[in-house]
Amino acid sequence: MKFQKLLAAAISLTAVTATTAATADEVNVYSYRQPFLVEPLFKRFEAETGTKVNVLFANKGLVERLKAEARNSPADLIFTVDIGRLNDVKEAGVTQPVSSDVLTKIIPPQYRDPAGNWFALTTRARVIYAAKGRVEGWKTLTYEDLADPKYKDRVCTRSGKHAYTIALVASMISHHGRKDAKTWLTGVKNNLARRPQGNDRAQVKAIKDGLCDVALGNNYYFGKMMSDPKQRPWAEAVHVAFPNQQNRGAHVNISGMAMAKHAPNPSAAKKLMEWLVGAEAQSIYAEQNYEYPIREGVKWTPLLADLGTFKSDALPISTIAELRKDAVKLVDEVGFDG
Ligand code: FE
Repeated sequence: MKFQKLLAAAISLTAVTATTAATADEVNVYSYRQPFLVEPLFKRFEAETGTKVNVLFANKGLVERLKAEARNSPADLIFTVDIGRLNDVKEAGVTQPVSSDVLTKIIPPQYRDPAGNWFALTTRARVIYAAKGRVEGWKTLTYEDLADPKYKDRVCTRSGKHAYTIALVASMISHHGRKDAKTWLTGVKNNLARRPQGNDRAQVKAIKDGLCDVALGNNYYFGKMMSDPKQRPWAEAVHVAFPNQQNRGAHVNISGMAMAKHAPNPSAAKKLMEWLVGAEAQSIYAEQNYEYPIREGVKWTPLLADLGTFKSDALPISTIAELRKDAVKLVDEVGFDG
């Protein structure tokens, strides 16, 4: 846990190599996931197995770094969120396929790369936050509804260019075809109460402030807002609607992991990967961020349990990865961000 809170730019390659060289029983992780999410897990893994975990945290630049380091890279594993980023890592050619009976048994096929280059650890649903008292029938909302003229000037969302929006648009292309997905996205744009701006939580605040009635957001932000005294009133102003429960289910995205192409400690890295889908690790991981464990039968946090079970879209995440470029183009064509 030597590199916590340091940005990639702040550390020299020699420093990383020097600290991580040699002994076989360690794993070096490059992580886009924040320290509070992964540190409790790695500490536990270290305590249970005696295998040391060194982590380099960064907000950006890890793929470039892996490319630059090439064969000399100390990285064994890469941790990140969103299929967009996982796919970027794979496309950059800095991963290697992992074959593991444990991983393929526990992680449902739609949540891992068919070639084994990335694996999900948690899922998160793209929900619709609906103003309490202002949205009739909120329980049966669909993504398609967001384009319905009855929501004119009532929709808030973050930028169309953000990975979360791109993934949802990619799923709409997959389910409806490009032409209808474009019509839908144009409809959503026409219903916007304001230009896309801010993060997911900012949309819920906008609902609380009366600026809009429905907004897209990831489910875990509800938990984060509920546990923050300042933001709790925002969360209390909304219902959490899992979209499309009557048909295909809610769009979900993942957080996940990949093994680096030149991993110096592949067997220890695989051991960590397999440990992370174990029951204990799964409950710790999901609990830290109000995400859903990838492993079935792991108890949900009370807050997630209160929101209830829901149907998830069975669309393979790899299909979303394939359609991301089309989705980016569509968002541009529609001029979604205005
Ligand atoms: Fe997020």
